[in-house]
Amino acid sequence: MMFQDFDCQIIVTNAYLLSKTESEEKIHDILDFPGTIMTDSGAYQLLIYGDVKITPDQIIRFQERIETDIAVILDVPTGGKATYRDAEFTVEETLRRANASISQRRKSKILWVGPIQGGTYPDLVARSARTISELDFSIYAIGSPTQLMEQYQFDKLVDLVLTAKMNIPVHKPVHLFGAGHPLIFPLIVAMGCDMFDSAAYALFAKHDRILTSEGTFRLAELKDEFCTCPTCSQYTISEMKQLEKKKRIQVLAEHNLRICQNEIKRIKHAIREGRLWRLVESRLSSHPALVDAMQRLQSYQPLFEEASPITKKRAIYITSPWSLYQPEIYRHKKRMEDYSPPEPKRNVLLLFSASRNGPYHSAKEYTRFKNEYKKISPESFQSFDTIFVSPIFGLVPLELTNYYPLAQNVVPQTDLANLDYSIIAQLKSYLTENLQYIQIFGLFGQSAFWQSFKRRCKQMLKQFQKKFMLSTTDFSSKSLKTLISKIALEL
Ligand SMILES: [Zn+2]
Repeated sequence: MMFQDFDCQIIVTNAYLLSKTESEEKIHDILDFPGTIMTDSGAYQLLIYGDVKITPDQIIRFQERIETDIAVILDVPTGGKATYRDAEFTVEETLRRANASISQRRKSKILWVGPIQGGTYPDLVARSARTISELDFSIYAIGSPTQLMEQYQFDKLVDLVLTAKMNIPVHKPVHLFGAGHPLIFPLIVAMGCDMFDSAAYALFAKHDRILTSEGTFRLAELKDEFCTCPTCSQYTISEMKQLEKKKRIQVLAEHNLRICQNEIKRIKHAIREGRLWRLVESRLSSHPALVDAMQRLQSYQPLFEEASPITKKRAIYITSPWSLYQPEIYRHKKRMEDYSPPEPKRNVLLLFSASRNGPYHSAKEYTRFKNEYKKISPESFQSFDTIFVSPIFGLVPLELTNYYPLAQNVVPQTDLANLDYSIIAQLKSYLTENLQYIQIFGLFGQSAFWQSFKRRCKQMLKQFQKKFMLSTTDFSSKSLKTLISKIALEL
């Protein structure tokens, strides 16, 4: 049923619980499932009940005997509440068992999973990840996120996952244990988790709780039908409430599973379309803890930038201040740190407010400026440097305006936030590197953003012994003419 109805190609089950049934069958026969089967080792039971009655080498032999496809060694989970000393023990013991497991394995067809522990202690997570990635495992799994997720400590989850990611080879698949709420799926995939597992869909159903990608609801609280999935469409809300308990759990579990599957499909689609960031951003409104996670992602921008393609087939969208953390924007700002203007050096710099949508060099205002300029002083048009100032990307030199995504972005007409002072800092550092400018002209729009930019800019420019003229303009030909004659005079 799972295979056909749910379009499910891989399932995860528990080897420890299975070993207690003393069945002699192989796992694919026991579960009657033709897809890939992963067996977890019982470490979760160890975390919850404190003890499991099986040894690390017994669980290896058992998983080999039942011919599972993906197997996990019996690690020692750190959990979310361990003291540093206890957490350190779980890391050391898991590594010891991981090491020992290499010589205990007999079958080569199984993909072995190496668990990473350390919980909320980044140095331990880093050590655990670094050391285990030197051992022969096909997949690395990040342990102990469940309590962080249950308590909505998504910022700590970001630290856990990304610390682990930074310390394992980038080409290795990463599994996240116990991630089962669709709310968090886009975020964990964006952080580089390739696989995750959870019994949440069933556990929530047991308590009459309904999963959606926007959050969790209690069946009792719902007055109207909430879903059009094939399972839910068979019942009205009151029929669903009146189902006998066993049937109701089954119906809700099916719904929960479908919602999880749908979210996975949505994520796959977003990845193919190059829009995963947008999906992550669109989920922020579902829970404040996701906003904390997004804020924390900021400190890992270099990691995201490194993993992002240089170009994508679609424009990037700017829909909220969070859009500004997109790796592409960070990449441009980083590029600008090493940028130097073309040779030979010119001594006049023109700063021009960037239009809302790229490419900046063909925007209406700039084209008007260019045409006016060519009328007044055609011979001097190439004699100065032009840099666009964008509220989104910061400084964008004229010759870079075609690079992705400087010309491929969609930006609202409204200012997203107050002036970002980092643009002023960026300009200051650019001018410090380029002391050849004798005169700086600025030509900005009239909105509050540009007024405020101009004010800050003037203050900053006082530190430089230069002539500068910053004007706000309506881009009418009269005001352009005045400015152009002043520029031409300086050249
Ligand atoms: Zn449904």
